[in-house]
Amino acid sequence: MPDLLLQVAARANSYLEGLNTRPVAPAQQALDALAVLDEPLPEGPTDPEAVIDLLDRVGSPATAATTGGRFYGFVHGGSLPAALAANWLAGAWDQNAVLYASSPIGSRLEEVAQRWLTQVLNLPEDCGVGFVTGATMANFTGLAAGRTAMLERLGWDADGDGLFGAPPVTVVVSEEVHPSVTKALGLLGLGRRRILRVPVDHQGRMRADALPELTGPAIICVQAGNVNTGAIDPVGPICDIAHASGAWVHVDGAFGLWANASPSLALQLAGVEQADSWATDAHKWLNVPYDSGLAFVRHGAFLTRAMSLTAAYIPKGARRDPGQFTPELSRRARGVEIWAALRSLGKTGLADMIDRTCRHARRFADGLGSAGFEILNEVVLNQVLVSFGEAETTWRVIDRIQRDGTCWCGGTTWQDRTAMRISVASWATTDADVEMSLEAIIRAAREG
Ligand SMILES: *Cc1c(COP(=O)(O)O)cnc(C)c1O
Repeated sequence: MPDLLLQVAARANSYLEGLNTRPVAPAQQALDALAVLDEPLPEGPTDPEAVIDLLDRVGSPATAATTGGRFYGFVHGGSLPAALAANWLAGAWDQNAVLYASSPIGSRLEEVAQRWLTQVLNLPEDCGVGFVTGATMANFTGLAAGRTAMLERLGWDADGDGLFGAPPVTVVVSEEVHPSVTKALGLLGLGRRRILRVPVDHQGRMRADALPELTGPAIICVQAGNVNTGAIDPVGPICDIAHASGAWVHVDGAFGLWANASPSLALQLAGVEQADSWATDAHKWLNVPYDSGLAFVRHGAFLTRAMSLTAAYIPKGARRDPGQFTPELSRRARGVEIWAALRSLGKTGLADMIDRTCRHARRFADGLGSAGFEILNEVVLNQVLVSFGEAETTWRVIDRIQRDGTCWCGGTTWQDRTAMRISVASWATTDADVEMSLEAIIRAAREG
């Protein structure tokens, strides 16, 4: 075992060192070589060293270099050194963070992380927190608590009796709702289609003045961080309107909620702390390894009512049993990496990381704008949308930049326009990465 782990550390280091000189998208040759994995299950055992050798030789080149400084696709973050290293140590621990009894350290680090997270994200310190796989599950978890709460007001036990015959709950989203929210609504029996869509402004923000009149139980899903523009819904005004009728406000803040960690950006989230539940990712802007998301619920009792599990063989502990807050039962100790990331960054390090990535995004917008290309959004956070002209031209430039390999950007459609989307969410991105990528994008665009 010790030799194997030392060897894999050396392999991982050389992978990380190679990120700067390899193309960001894997070479076609590396993808073709994956065919050697299509072998029959071996009859007998293989030496672990040989297994890892095969994995590294064939697997490492077939990765997208998302953890380097020049991957700007979707809203992927990288992995902070302390978080990655903590992930390795936690892997060696192999803790099942379902119960305090099976992982005291997993339980305690969730408690500490909860305190720190609610502080940096400006959420109520005593809310219930579930450490889940990502924002999709965090949306599911927060909305499950909302469903429980809204129906309980009418004397209906949604968790016990389900939704057949229950009083209807109005669900309100914006026209720019993230598909993970509608998926979560489907899973919860609230329906992907049974929703009211509120119009948005030019940046994709829900228009508070266009909210429907709310009567009876309702859940309003707002968004903090539009995947295209980065814009944040006016959460404060929406909370005021929603709460006047007793509605539940859920915030999908997969990446945008982290703006609260930066004093200069927090203004955009004014009032977000008034909501009832919040979903965010740790694997995006906090830069911890996959997979890691967080669900926060102001009144934690609704969360545990929706998520808790009773079984004779699992006695209720006096300490935090993490599995009482999540859809999953057995689960890895995700709090470890979140703790390590926050412990290594501190408050100022976190704010710097958020501010720095936003500064890089503005530099992209300025550089491409001065080169004569059209920026389609106001760059309020870390997302930039650029058009190179006609849709076909923009797609051609995107394809060229992906094949060029200096950096990686994807395409999107924004209010009927085709755009290349640049998302800067990695701690690893440097000024030099941005300049090198800008040059490559402008070169690709000038080829027409
Ligand atoms: C990424 C994202 C999600 C989904 O997050 P996962 O971690 O992929 O489950 C949801 N909402 C928004 C706004 C996002 O950016």
